[in-house]
Amino acid sequence: MIKADPYAFASLAAEQIIKGLGIAALPVDPKAIARDCGIEVVAKPMENEGVSGMLVRYGNDFAIAYATHHENEGFENFSVGHELGHYYLPGHVDAVIVGDAGSHVSRAGYLSGDKYEAEADRFAASFLMPRHLFFPALERAGVGLAAIERLAVLCKTSIHATAIRYAQCTREAVAIIVSRSGIIDHCFMSEALRNLDGIDWLRKRKAVPQNTATYAFNQDPVNVRHGNRVEEGSNLQHWFGGRRSIEICEDVVGLGRYGKTLTVLYDIDLPSPEDEEEERSLIESWTPRFKR
Ligand SMILES: [Zn+2]
Repeated sequence: MIKADPYAFASLAAEQIIKGLGIAALPVDPKAIARDCGIEVVAKPMENEGVSGMLVRYGNDFAIAYATHHENEGFENFSVGHELGHYYLPGHVDAVIVGDAGSHVSRAGYLSGDKYEAEADRFAASFLMPRHLFFPALERAGVGLAAIERLAVLCKTSIHATAIRYAQCTREAVAIIVSRSGIIDHCFMSEALRNLDGIDWLRKRKAVPQNTATYAFNQDPVNVRHGNRVEEGSNLQHWFGGRRSIEICEDVVGLGRYGKTLTVLYDIDLPSPEDEEEERSLIESWTPRFKR
C-alpha cells in the first residue's frame, strides 16, 4: 500500500502562493518574491558546507541569507525557497526561531529527518516548480537526464532538485538514484514504478549493484568530480530484483565536487495489466492438475 504523502500540504501552500501572485511562466524568482514581501535577501559565504541558508527574525522584520559556496544558482534559489517555506508555512517561524528575535540555520536539500526542514524542502521544490507550470514543461522536455537538464535550465533549479521533482510529477515509470562512493544515498520512484508488483525497494546504504553503468562510473572519482555523463542500456532487474527482465535506459551524471552521482532509470516498458493476465492464465493452463 502506498502511504499518503505527508508533505502534500507544503506543496499545495507553495503552489497557491505562486498562483496568487499571478506568476504564469517559469522560472520563478524566489529572491524577487522575497524582496517584494519586504524581506531582505543577502548572499553569504557559509563556513559549514552543509549549511544552505538562514532565516533571521527581528520582531516583524525578516531577512534571508543564502549560501554561495555551491556556486550554483539552482542551489541558491532552492535555499531561498526553503527559507520562504519557513516564513510562509503555518507554525514554522515560531518552531524554528525561539522568541521574536533570532535566527534559524538551514540545511536545505540534504533530506534532513527534521520535520520542519523536510517541509521547507518540499515547499521550495513546489515553489520553484509548481505543478501548473511544471507539468506542461515536463510534457515537452523529452525523457531521461536530457529532460531533467532542460527543465533545470528552464526553472533555474539544480539538477538534483529537478530530478526529484521530475520523479514526483511524471506519469512515466522512472527512478532517480543518488549515490556517493558507491553507496545509495536515496532513491525516488515515480508513482507508475511504485505501483509495479514484485520489485524491491532500494534501501538506503545499500551498495550500487555491480552490473550497472552507475557502478562502473563510480569506480573513477574523476567522473563524479568533473560532472561526466554516460547513457547506457540497463535492466530493471539489476536494480530492483523481481522475476521479470525488463530492458531500460540508464543515464548517469557526476554532480561535482560533493562526490554525488545521479542516476536516471527510464524507458521502463512496464507490463500492462492485460499482459499480466495473459501470463497468469498461461501459467495456469500449464500447471498440471492433480485429481484426488
Ligand atoms: Zn530550515
